[in-house]
Amino acid sequence: MKSINIKYLFTGTLFLGLVFSGCTNSKKQEGNSAKATDSVAMDKPVANTSAQILAKPEVPVLCYHRIEEGKKGEYKVSPATFSAHMKILADSGYHSILPAQLYDYLVYNKTLPEKPVMITFDDSRVEHSTIAAPVMEKYGFRGVFFIMTITYNKKNYMTTDEIAALAKTGHVIGLHSWDHTMVTKYNEAADWQKQVIAPKEKLEKITGKAVEYWAYPNGVYDHKGAEELNRYFKISFSLSTKRDTIVPLQSVRRMIVPEWTPQGLLKSMRRTFHEAKPLSKN
Ligand SMILES: [Zn+2]
Repeated sequence: MKSINIKYLFTGTLFLGLVFSGCTNSKKQEGNSAKATDSVAMDKPVANTSAQILAKPEVPVLCYHRIEEGKKGEYKVSPATFSAHMKILADSGYHSILPAQLYDYLVYNKTLPEKPVMITFDDSRVEHSTIAAPVMEKYGFRGVFFIMTITYNKKNYMTTDEIAALAKTGHVIGLHSWDHTMVTKYNEAADWQKQVIAPKEKLEKITGKAVEYWAYPNGVYDHKGAEELNRYFKISFSLSTKRDTIVPLQSVRRMIVPEWTPQGLLKSMRRTFHEAKPLSKN
């Protein structure tokens, strides 16, 4: 919670700063600054506590990796299966949401569209841009692409231009570390610099947008890592593991999607996110 309050305070301070600087331009308005402060205080959005965030119904968050033909595996679906998954989501009335909407829902109780789902992709594979994005766009969906930045312009991975194009088309680009080293292995400041700070800055230059979301390599996190990431990201996504009770926004659950039938996908979404008892650790 501390971080949310800090974020709010920052926004509040920024806003007050604007009010005050506006006032200094007109001497007549000097006496109004106290009044302006009051109205800002009244408009202050109240952020949910960690316990309130954990108690809210979860939104299904899907996690895809490879989209290609070939041997079945946990980290792979065929292009036809991916299309069938998107089709059944659309036919069933699902609306894709983006992380900023999820954040406002979890922290400020903003309403989400009916039947929300988030569709995410890990590891910067080229087919995310060539296959997944066009299929999603056909249904009016937008996704979240978590980039491990060591892959820029490498064979089978997205080019920096393709990543920038996704951001331009309304998809969201997040970070998935530099080289997929797990957060639990970042021991020194230099590790955070290499895996988080430097790649985040680079990705922001490529997309021209703030990179505010993180997906844990291998889905693995610990409390120390979650606290640290809270300095850099609004939300970090784990996998179907227990959530952190102190910084729940840094451990939002996702579900890996393998080669399921469309009905199997819907069933797993229900089982993992709607019927699951709230989980938390520490
Ligand atoms: Zn990964």
